[in-house]
Amino acid sequence: MMNIVQNQILANLTSWKVGGPARYFCQPENYKDISEAVEFAEKNNLKIVILGGGSNVLVSDKGISGVVLHLGKLNQMTVKEENGNLKISAQAGVPKSELGRAFLKKKLAPAVFLAGLPGDIGGGIVMNAGVSDATVPKEFVEITEWVEIYRFDQKKFITMSADDLAWSYRKCSGWQPGIIVQAGFQWKLGESPDIVETVFAANRLRVGKQPLNLPSCGSVFKNPTGDKAGRLIDSCGLKGFQVGKAQVSPKHANFIVNLGGATASDIDQVIRYVKKTVMEKTKVELEAEVVYLGNWD
Ligand SMILES: Cc1cc2nc3c(=O)[nH]c(=O)nc-3n(C[C@H](O)[C@H](O)[C@H](O)COP(=O)(O)OP(=O)(O)OC[C@H]3O[C@@H](n4cnc5c(N)ncnc54)[C@H](O)[C@@H]3O)c2cc1C
Repeated sequence: MMNIVQNQILANLTSWKVGGPARYFCQPENYKDISEAVEFAEKNNLKIVILGGGSNVLVSDKGISGVVLHLGKLNQMTVKEENGNLKISAQAGVPKSELGRAFLKKKLAPAVFLAGLPGDIGGGIVMNAGVSDATVPKEFVEITEWVEIYRFDQKKFITMSADDLAWSYRKCSGWQPGIIVQAGFQWKLGESPDIVETVFAANRLRVGKQPLNLPSCGSVFKNPTGDKAGRLIDSCGLKGFQVGKAQVSPKHANFIVNLGGATASDIDQVIRYVKKTVMEKTKVELEAEVVYLGNWD
């Protein structure tokens, strides 16, 4: 029987290092564990919440009252060459960095956008994670071939073609309600000789522009069409704005950093203030990219 523990603190499983406990918590290692955890939740009428790498979530200080499934132990990956393509099957908890390394080994272009992207591949698909520059490919939609899901409504594992999902900027839908358990990725074989240098350059760019020395969730807001959230926030003079120990990064205005000891409530208050101020001053409504988890009332 799947080991389910109570009152597990989640802060260390999130990149912001904030948030309260999960009422119930488990780390499935295989498909049987997933089915059992879902069964447990259904039997006890509890909500299921999925945590991948925790790099795009804000967990409430009050915690999460349902069952949290952390997928970090679902981390098998296989790589093969087929019909001139590199094909990779990866379970949801495989870090994006590992997927990136598999492409880099073959000197293939997806290594570039995957460089420096935190979190796991499950979260990468849910968020259609990627970069906003002219890199090709630049988002998960371009490398994903199929997705395997445990569907709550059908109570079974199903595989969907990536073409049957609805992908948009930092969003993928059509697979719910369920849990992404595995995905297939592919890219045409054919070496790009300067790929290693391009990956290094992408990493250098991140280090130069982003406050990577402090806990954050990356970009808090989505870029509005035709503009950059960071530019708008900066234009409102909000760099350095602080509530408690949460601060709009002076280095990158779309990052909110935890200066040490911030609460989720501090971060939420900064998010609300930034949204309100940008609306008042620029008439642009910012939409959060970060996903709120847990009890916020
Ligand atoms: C320093 C830093 C830089 C970043 N830079 C970028 C960037 O350049 N581009 C970018 O797109 N993002 C960036 N991010 C944000 C984040 O890394 C991505 O959104 C990432 O894809 C989230 O993956 P994760 O595994 O951490 O997901 P989580 O944060 O754990 O989860 C995100 C959402 O997906 C759901 N979820 C996760 N896994 C599953 C699953 N297997 N099945 C069903 N639901 C699931 C969760 O419930 C939650 O709603 C950055 C974050 C940080 C901290």
